Amino acid sequence: MSAATDTARADAPLGLLGGTFDPIHFAHLRLAEEAREALGLHGVRLIPAGQPPHRGEPGSTAQDRLAMARLATAGNDGLEVDDGEVLAPQKSYTVPTLERLRAELGPQRPLVLILGADAFEGLPQWHRWQELFSLAHVAVANRPGHAPHARRWPGTLPSARLPAFAALCEGRHVSDPAELRAAPAGRIIPFDMTPLAISATLIRDLIGHGHSARYLLPDSVLDYIGANGLYTRNLTGHASS
Ligand code: ATP
Repeated sequence: MSAATDTARADAPLGLLGGTFDPIHFAHLRLAEEAREALGLHGVRLIPAGQPPHRGEPGSTAQDRLAMARLATAGNDGLEVDDGEVLAPQKSYTVPTLERLRAELGPQRPLVLILGADAFEGLPQWHRWQELFSLAHVAVANRPGHAPHARRWPGTLPSARLPAFAALCEGRHVSDPAELRAAPAGRIIPFDMTPLAISATLIRDLIGHGHSARYLLPDSVLDYIGANGLYTRNLTGHASS
């Protein structure tokens, strides 16, 4: 996304995909690509977490995860990488990141936070989660092994904060992507992506056990992992999110 194009499409919804990306893999990339197409987004910004909360230390450094995200998105004009969380000294929380992007992009630009179903389920554990919908829309994709869709929600959510979360989500669900253009924030839109049972945990485990992870992530990322000797130790370093 060039600066000139960005200015020309300043009113078009911009997708945001945060993650630990430890490492980035094809399900992340399909999630971004399919959200961009299905929801009519101008593009998607991938935002690697510097110090992700709610989980143990990642298996690779923030700089490595940033470098891998850049390699994975190279050549796709619809995807860009935001280094804001990696460069920040504090823990990476989504709501403060959205405030930063809101300040950068202005109050009217529709922002669409893209989440897999597992991430949406964990939303009530986020720092300042109650403020999320004043800053962005939320798009929720299916993920194998998780409650199929936000549409099914709230029946499957285990959160102790469920009633408050239910109240916050009340009346926000839409199905027409055009609704994302009608306001800068505040809607929840479920969408279907190609189901891909890929996780970064699986990839770390494969590499750590000396198995091939090829065709689960871009060759450029796999080459980077090999060249830097990533994920060959501390296999049980952290649990999946
Ligand atoms: P880990 O296995 O280390 O927990 P992960 O593969 O879940 O990692 P994250 O970086 O934690 O990857 O995820 C970033 C975002 O991508 C989250 O919103 C998550 O729901 C989504 N995501 C990751 N993998 C998939 C997948 N296979 N299908 C749909 N969404 C996914």
